[in-house]
Amino acid sequence: MKKYDDIVVGSGISGLTIALLLGMNGRSVLLLEKNSRIGGSLARFYKQGIPFDTGFHFTGGFYKNGILHDMLTVLGIHDYIRPIYIAQDKNNRFIFEKEQAVFNLPVGYQAIVSKFKDYFPSGTTAIDRYFDMVRDVCFKTVSMDLRNITLSPTVIDEDYISLDKVLNSLTDNRLLKGLLSGFCMCHGVKPAEISFANHSRVSYDLYKSMSRVKDGGDAFIKAFKERFAEFDINVMCGSFIKECIDIKNDQVGRFVLNNGDEISCKHCIFTIHPQEILKILPQKHLSKAFIERVKSFEPSAGFFSVYGIVESDNAFDTVEPTTLSLFPTADINLLIDPYNPGPPAMVIMQNTETINAKSYMVLNALEVSFPEHVEDWKNSKPDKRPDGYMKYKQERINNISKRVINIYPKYCDSFNVVAAASILTFRDYLHSPHGSAYGIKQKIGQFNLFGKLPLRNVYAAGQSSVLPGLVGAMMSSFIVGRAVIGKNDYNHFIGRELDS
Ligand SMILES: Cc1cc2nc3c(=O)[nH]c(=O)nc-3n(C[C@H](O)[C@H](O)[C@H](O)COP(=O)(O)OP(=O)(O)OC[C@H]3O[C@@H](n4cnc5c(N)ncnc54)[C@H](O)[C@@H]3O)c2cc1C
Repeated sequence: MKKYDDIVVGSGISGLTIALLLGMNGRSVLLLEKNSRIGGSLARFYKQGIPFDTGFHFTGGFYKNGILHDMLTVLGIHDYIRPIYIAQDKNNRFIFEKEQAVFNLPVGYQAIVSKFKDYFPSGTTAIDRYFDMVRDVCFKTVSMDLRNITLSPTVIDEDYISLDKVLNSLTDNRLLKGLLSGFCMCHGVKPAEISFANHSRVSYDLYKSMSRVKDGGDAFIKAFKERFAEFDINVMCGSFIKECIDIKNDQVGRFVLNNGDEISCKHCIFTIHPQEILKILPQKHLSKAFIERVKSFEPSAGFFSVYGIVESDNAFDTVEPTTLSLFPTADINLLIDPYNPGPPAMVIMQNTETINAKSYMVLNALEVSFPEHVEDWKNSKPDKRPDGYMKYKQERINNISKRVINIYPKYCDSFNVVAAASILTFRDYLHSPHGSAYGIKQKIGQFNLFGKLPLRNVYAAGQSSVLPGLVGAMMSSFIVGRAVIGKNDYNHFIGRELDS
């Protein structure tokens, strides 16, 4: 039997973060990943030698003393990650098709508030109030400060009121409400279902700064790999826990892996989907209420993703990264509903990748999608999908391509689709039960799976815990890391790394 201080399950950004945090604190760590390579949603894939992003395109939080900046600094990987800022208004565009309105939004808190007021001169009071409330939420949220984070729930009033309710109390202007809900695409939950607090926590950093990263998620993976080599961190790909045995006093004695190895450890931290954790834990040690709670979690929205390149005879000069959100209507509740009868919301991202001194313009179009859209083929496996699914996939590719060309007619002859991924593709590649983009829906009043589980040496972290996205997933790992390392050692470590 092998012994480690800690096992970490899942090697997306959450698993990578907590593995490094624990390793840096002198612990021996075994990181288990079901796939043949690490990185989860971060890992890029390559077609014709050109990299495409799986589940990480842009983020906020890189500004000095921002939470992402601090987390990367503490982990010692800040200098490995090079942000490419989306700096100009025209590169962050929102189009509302039915209302025939186009908004170019700057980044920077004051700049964005002013721009909103230019667009909606009669809504200045509502705009001031909204942005003040967003900032207040983030100041009051202790987990947004690495020195103060804690597993104890620190709930504030805004956790109990929906984004929808707040917006309705501020204004009757549908378009203004639609634009203020624009970053719902970054958590995948309707304004009527997300708390104002969680919408604010996701949006605040994006209002302050938005950036891609040079080499995308692969830059993070490379940085973590290099840092892992400096500590006692062992990575096993193609591996997962098959069984938990030798359970005494609600503690798992041994974890049996798929290759038959038995491992004992002080803590096991799952960073995978809560319903996948449920499949691994022995049911007789869990209460009915716990099982029902985890089963009841619903998936966030997901995406149908089309990846293409824009061909050119001339090597492109570097094209600045752009994000364009295309909303068929300002009713964001309808756009994030699986049964929306109209066209889906779509986000189109463009960036340049340079390979062997040649530049390629990469275009990725993501249309909102739900498990309900692929219900008929949910039992199918990759490479063995039925004809009906293949037809569905091709129709969606054609439709998305048409919408892209409609927005960018100049790409009519030069846009070529090279790959596409449906909700089922994401589900099967990421071993996530529904293929949603952000794990479970962050529903108002819901008590997510986070921290210590009913088996006392088993913990949950990951994107479904506190907040989705790169930043939220990393935050969950810092919070659980603090519980595992111990408050005093954690505080000493954070202080040392941030102040050095
Ligand atoms: C299409 C798409 C676009 C997105 N765009 C952005 C974006 O631009 N910005 C942003 O911040 N966020 C974005 N997200 C969300 C972001 O990718 C996630 O919130 C974040 O990466 C989740 O990290 P994670 O480590 O919690 O989970 P994951 O990245 O899903 O990692 C979980 C890992 O666990 C592994 N695993 C699963 N089960 C087991 C098991 N039993 N044993 C061992 N290993 C297992 C999986 O193979 C996977 O590697 C996007 C997501 C999608 C799908």
